[in-house]
Amino acid sequence: MEFVASQISENIQPSATLKLNALVQEMRSQGQDVIGLSAGEPDFDTPTHIKDAAIKALNEGKTHYTPVGGIGELKQAICKTLLRDKNLCYQNKNILVSMGAKQALYEALHVILDPGDEVLLPMPCWLSYQEMIGMCGALVVPIPSKAENAFMPDIKDFYDRCTNKTKLIIINSPNNPTGAVWNRELLNGIAEFAKEKGLYIISDEIYEKLVYDGFNHVSIAQISEDAQKRSIVISGFSKAYAMTGWRLGYIAADEKIISAINAYQSHAAGCTNSVAQYAAVAALEGTQQPLGEMLKIFNKRRDIVVNLLEKMPYISFVRPHGAFYVLIDISKCIGKSYKGTPIHSDEDFAYLLLTHGRVSVVPGKPFGAPNNIRISYATKEDTITEAMQRLKSFLETLD
Ligand code: PMP
Ligand code: GLU
Repeated sequence: MEFVASQISENIQPSATLKLNALVQEMRSQGQDVIGLSAGEPDFDTPTHIKDAAIKALNEGKTHYTPVGGIGELKQAICKTLLRDKNLCYQNKNILVSMGAKQALYEALHVILDPGDEVLLPMPCWLSYQEMIGMCGALVVPIPSKAENAFMPDIKDFYDRCTNKTKLIIINSPNNPTGAVWNRELLNGIAEFAKEKGLYIISDEIYEKLVYDGFNHVSIAQISEDAQKRSIVISGFSKAYAMTGWRLGYIAADEKIISAINAYQSHAAGCTNSVAQYAAVAALEGTQQPLGEMLKIFNKRRDIVVNLLEKMPYISFVRPHGAFYVLIDISKCIGKSYKGTPIHSDEDFAYLLLTHGRVSVVPGKPFGAPNNIRISYATKEDTITEAMQRLKSFLETLD
């Protein structure tokens, strides 16, 4: 029998970031010298005290199903962290632990959205949002944000694009792919707008701890009691604690929302990995020194990348203040060619840079940023410097 995909699944575009990571690994395994700037994950090892907590949990036999929404100790550690870092008051009943922030987002979207609902989505944005919204049968309504405004959208656009089908806003600060950190004034405006229109807010705060230049991450839930009540705050362990492979994230939200997601997760997953949950308690409650060191290194790498990019022809970018990405505008390269091969799009640029320049970057189009590319600087300093040299030579060859 021939496989016929369901209508929802036939439209899903596989994750371009994960596809590129796999391609780079394959090229390397064939002996090719490729530098990967496409992976959105810290290159650091998970800190030792976190790994030790996992080993201890294993040795103590904590290898069984846990409650659906996570172990009590971890929920409590998350509540304590939110109170300590953001002065946000949540109780265990407001917390759910999921398989990475990715699954947290997926499940939150599924309990909020019905087919035909509209979601206000500031662009550029992480490429999985659009696909996940599509998987719910809901519709993306893009809200533009411009480089000249440091990628902070205009609140007027939220009002202009809101209809009686709008149910939700998704925000992500610090942002993937721009590295923008939104200020309190913008968050105030969004909170006020959401209140006036009766909308939910999903706030993806996975990069909350990765901010530089004295910038401070503000959660929209901190803006007001009302904003906290209508916000589904999502974060996790992948970025701040270099735990991407452990697959652990969490949601903080109103009890009724958590309860709906709990029911969903009870059938979709059962629970998250038990050992990883004990490791996550150590991540939150143990020393934060490795995070501090990682931050310093990211900051230095960011400076190196920015300084080198500033000297390159045809490109422009906004200095990022958070996460570990730079979104680079390559629109001046469109219409040029590389050794006779024309560049019509960011995909052409990324393909030629990979195959001839031996550097992998992600095309901007899936992030809602055509004519841009995204690089990640979560890579060692000398590798970054070599990659920038290759990018510069590639750009200088264009005519
Ligand atoms: N949100 C954003 C903005 C991301 O870039 C990522 C990528 N890892 C995620 C969520 C998912 O993270 P996790 O590894 O916790 O699933
Ligand atoms: N979020 C990271 C990225 O944007 C990891 C890959 C993914 O899950 O998409 O590269």
